[in-house]
Amino acid sequence: MIPQDFIQQLLDRTDIVALVERYVPLKKAGANYQARCPFHNEKSPSFSVSPSKQFYHCFGCGAHGTAITFLMEHAGYSFIDAVKELASQVGMTLPDDGKRVAPEEDHRREKLYERMDIAARHYRQALKAHEPAIAYLKQRGLAGETAAKFALGVANDDWQPLAAAFADYQDPLLVEAGLVISNEGKRYDRFRDRVMFPIRNERGQVIAFGGRIMQKGEPKYLNSPETPLFHKGRELYGLFEHRRSIQHEDRVLVVEGYMDVVMLDQHGVDNAVATLGTAITSDQAMRLLRLANEVVFAFDGDAAGRKAAWRALENSLPQARDGKLLSFLFLPDGEDPDSFVRTQGADAFKKLCNTAMPLSDFLFNELGNQTDLSSQEGKVRLATLAQPYIAKLTQAPLLTRALRQRLDSLTGLASPRTAGERNRPSGHPSQLDKFGKSLRPQSGSQGRAAAQPSAWRILLRALLHDPSRASQLTDLPEVAGSEADAVQAVVSLAREHPEIPARDIPDHFLGRPEHALIMQAAGESIRLDDDFDINADFQGALSAVMNQANRIAAKEFSGRKPSEMSEIEKAQLRASLKTRKPV
Ligand SMILES: [Zn+2]
Repeated sequence: MIPQDFIQQLLDRTDIVALVERYVPLKKAGANYQARCPFHNEKSPSFSVSPSKQFYHCFGCGAHGTAITFLMEHAGYSFIDAVKELASQVGMTLPDDGKRVAPEEDHRREKLYERMDIAARHYRQALKAHEPAIAYLKQRGLAGETAAKFALGVANDDWQPLAAAFADYQDPLLVEAGLVISNEGKRYDRFRDRVMFPIRNERGQVIAFGGRIMQKGEPKYLNSPETPLFHKGRELYGLFEHRRSIQHEDRVLVVEGYMDVVMLDQHGVDNAVATLGTAITSDQAMRLLRLANEVVFAFDGDAAGRKAAWRALENSLPQARDGKLLSFLFLPDGEDPDSFVRTQGADAFKKLCNTAMPLSDFLFNELGNQTDLSSQEGKVRLATLAQPYIAKLTQAPLLTRALRQRLDSLTGLASPRTAGERNRPSGHPSQLDKFGKSLRPQSGSQGRAAAQPSAWRILLRALLHDPSRASQLTDLPEVAGSEADAVQAVVSLAREHPEIPARDIPDHFLGRPEHALIMQAAGESIRLDDDFDINADFQGALSAVMNQANRIAAKEFSGRKPSEMSEIEKAQLRASLKTRKPV
């Protein structure tokens, strides 16, 4: 582990503008620098780099982070490599006091990569002499060039095919890399008698394998286990090979198997990737939405395919953003992408992709199938079923609104709003307007800052601009809603770590539900110049939040006799009456 204070110093000394500029040409725009985003395909620049805050943010796709994240996400460095690279640039030496295993850890990863590379070359070599495998691939219609592009290989039908590739078959790293299984003192290869598909990371290094059985047998597909190099919920097969064409086409196709990716490529569809035996994860959806504005999920048309599609929908809802298109393609009965493209060709397949069902249609179709809309109860049931899914769309306010309208018209009911949506204050229009304007995108940018941010959102931005403001937020009302939750979370973090730099806050919430929102609000704070007086807006938003909570409390109490209330409720009522002056 590298100590946190080392990272802080490193980021303090690094000039993120100079770093990013090595990869992306930047143009000065006010206090910040702008470019067309390197993480997604766009025509006008929404990517900003802030020298004062030392982070980057994209208003189009939400990419956000520090110099370290930039090297990892854009240049494909591992965390440790990114830290090393920056440290060598600013002349810092990585701490190494014996207890910390960073260099050894790193060394071990390098060795694991080496083992994977040797195995991949061995499998590839073995394919050249393996008649049955060649016959099998030929019979599936695979061309030699395609096999070479994806570096396909074969694992022989034997207990220890890799013993021929490694001088020391007892090497524990072979087990750690997932190549060899050690069982009660016996060792044997994990992959035997299979066509081998190397899975590569964004730098092109082999990190895992997928093996497909050639004859009958189970399992049909076998993947490497989770290893220090391979996390299957994060990687996507074909991303290394297809990254450029995905960006170029601005569309990515997600299919179920490696063979689909490979065969589509051979027939001229070179923007497909495959998940690795799991439903697409939220993390994977995020990575794809950064590369392209459109993600098409392709599934078999059978019941299993629809079930898998539903999982994909659930996992990608939190990553959906206004202006991005997520859609679902169901192949005709008995077809998979491989068979379809082989018999009908690339053009027919691309046309088929154009008919994919938009996320909203798929959502309402599936939920509609579970309900009977001819009865009042059925309508209520649909509204109830849809609610949790719509609530997952935390990053797509316009899509949320569109889905609610559709739900309302389907059911004839006004669907309940989430607490976050209710919290938009009606007070302080002038203050909010002013703040809203200061955040409006500059001309030529594709930013989509909300025209009228909620009071909670203003508090959140102010906190992410200057975490020391947490000390002024001691008595926030407890209100449900994602923005309120995020404010509370940042306030408690800033109280625990009073010295925390604003830049480091988003990373503290990695993997937590608040993360996306905090990342967004941190990005919005990039447009506040350091000398911009946010105090008036902050105070305005704070009193709007307090007044609103009190109004809700007063409304709850109205119509009830004081004799029916508890002491606490009476105190709340008194407080609410006190602040019910016009605002
Ligand atoms: Zn972007």
